[in-house]
Amino acid sequence: MNRNVTDPFLPPQRLLLGPGPSPVAPEVLAALALPTIGHLDPSFIGLMDELKQMLQTLFNTKNDATFTVAGPGSVGMDACILNMVEAGDKILIARNGVFGMRMTEVAARGGADVVTLDFEWGTAVDPAAVDAALSKDKDIKFLAFVHAETSTGVLSDGKAIGDVAKKHGVMVIMDTVTSAGGVPIMADEWGVDALYTGTQKCLSAPPGLSPVSFSPRALEHIKNRKTKVLSWFLDVTQVMAYWGGEGSRAYHHTAPINALYGLHEALRRLLVEGLENSFARHRKAHEHLVAGLEKRGMEMLVAPACRLPQLNTVKIPAGVDDAKVRRELLLTHNIEIGAGLGPLAGKVWRIGLMGEGARTEHVDTLLTALDKVLAS
Ligand SMILES: *Cc1c(COP(=O)(O)O)cnc(C)c1O
Repeated sequence: MNRNVTDPFLPPQRLLLGPGPSPVAPEVLAALALPTIGHLDPSFIGLMDELKQMLQTLFNTKNDATFTVAGPGSVGMDACILNMVEAGDKILIARNGVFGMRMTEVAARGGADVVTLDFEWGTAVDPAAVDAALSKDKDIKFLAFVHAETSTGVLSDGKAIGDVAKKHGVMVIMDTVTSAGGVPIMADEWGVDALYTGTQKCLSAPPGLSPVSFSPRALEHIKNRKTKVLSWFLDVTQVMAYWGGEGSRAYHHTAPINALYGLHEALRRLLVEGLENSFARHRKAHEHLVAGLEKRGMEMLVAPACRLPQLNTVKIPAGVDDAKVRRELLLTHNIEIGAGLGPLAGKVWRIGLMGEGARTEHVDTLLTALDKVLAS
């Protein structure tokens, strides 16, 4: 196809059933296209307040420091870890996939003394092993883990892990990028001190924003840091003044105004549906998919007890060309699924049923297309 750089870009219509981004509802796309207003306009400040309330509901937290940082989920990871840890601080990172590995990298760059606890990819973080690691080393101040590992399709037990951290008096940093909106998050009950998510997984908004939340204890800790937060842009005490300034909002940066309209609409739709109904819809789509794959003789990677409904890792049948199947699905059937990462590359497909994607009719569309591709 001959294109000129000055031709408008028109993306193809795809059904997004990979590890994110997920399908975005037309209502959210329409909200993104609403007229841009000033970021200190009283009307916009009203929208920021509503976003904060909706995020508090999503995370089940009373944390006043609940807002979004401008940037994808990775920026939320930077914001949480780099605000919490200082050079020399000991942090335990429980790792069972790609995103736990990345947490290690971020903490190390922040100068932290990183202790790692590794679990086999495809299994959950074991609270008993975390307990043992924390018992062994009393200098550890923080525990970080990924609630929903998108690289493997595993859900770890936030409550059990939080209880262990509470017992040892360590602060908890939790990645909820893929869990938020798809499975329950009880931030206050589990004792989570810092968490972050992303918009393009189960929240079904476009990528580019990272909702975060910090407990009062975390804020107190950050205020008493001996050194400044490495990143000026992500220094939570300053971003807070912009989001929560109670009538005296100070200019910090220019909020991504239209992106926040989109997130508002996505969260509004989620809360109108009801979180419980959304979780049930994710479970139903997941069960439908697993039944369909097993009927076709395929096998799931993860044991049923810790399977993540919104991210399904299925073993690629022997003799099947991984890349060719994904390419065919995308270019002939307009369906995107994900490849395996790291040690799982070439071994599994990652099928995301996230947000708007978590519907049994989308599962049927995928299974029908997969049958055709595998037959050819
Ligand atoms: C997608 C993802 C991230 C990173 O988010 P980006 O928006 O891609 O930067 C972090 N953690 C988990 C668990 C994820 O699934």
